[in-house]
Amino acid sequence: MSPLLEARALTAFYGDFQALFGIDFAIEPGEAVAIIGANGAGKSTFLKSVTGLLPASAERVLFDGRPIGALAPAEIVKRGIAMVPEGRRLFPSLSVEENLLMGSHSGRSGPWTLRRIYDLFPALPSLRTLPGNAISGGQQQMVAIGRALLANPRLLICDELSLGLAPLVVAGIYASFPVMMREGLTLIVVEQDVALAQRSTNRLYCFQEGRVSLHGRSTELTRAAISKAYFGAVP
Ligand code: ATP
Repeated sequence: MSPLLEARALTAFYGDFQALFGIDFAIEPGEAVAIIGANGAGKSTFLKSVTGLLPASAERVLFDGRPIGALAPAEIVKRGIAMVPEGRRLFPSLSVEENLLMGSHSGRSGPWTLRRIYDLFPALPSLRTLPGNAISGGQQQMVAIGRALLANPRLLICDELSLGLAPLVVAGIYASFPVMMREGLTLIVVEQDVALAQRSTNRLYCFQEGRVSLHGRSTELTRAAISKAYFGAVP
């Protein structure tokens, strides 16, 4: 099977500062892949580079075999990649439902409707008229995921979903992944909680200082190997 998303020797720069040094990455349709790594390892930069928020050379990022590196973010959403950004980024002046509907402008059709999002996250229907900032962090995260799903993507990319949320809330959010994947979604999650990343995904990439320091099947990677790849040495 050919990859749904592939990065080939991807580099990224902030001005003169190089943040990524030749990232090779591939995810097949139907897979869930985690990206882990210490602060500053380049995880968010990688996500920005594959979603058009940072410029990349066209041929260094392929989606469904076609180069997307030079496309604008809105065009990449239309092709079928949606992102749940770090920090949720809801519009505080819009209601929960209006925030959700912001995702439905991709022009793509598919299984995800407002009703399906409310089925997926039953906490949301009773909150639908509240402002986006009047609900809990976990509920905001559900809205951010729902908004991304309403773009009916083929690939959903989630940046640090669990940040600042209680473990029980995080577990509830991760429990929605199998439901999404049954609808044919492919998933990339950037996750600080390594154990959670390992048990929720098929494969795992560890980034260190802008490079892939380890990758493999999530359940087969040992704690020592991950620790070395994460910190640079076995502590
Ligand atoms: P975190 O878990 O802290 O979000 P990360 O793995 O996502 O870390 P990035 O945010 O991708 O790491 O940062 C990679 C490198 O790029 C770091 O050295 C960081 O300081 C730098 N960097 C990130 N954003 C910018 C920016 N807007 N301008 C300049 N340098 C940046």
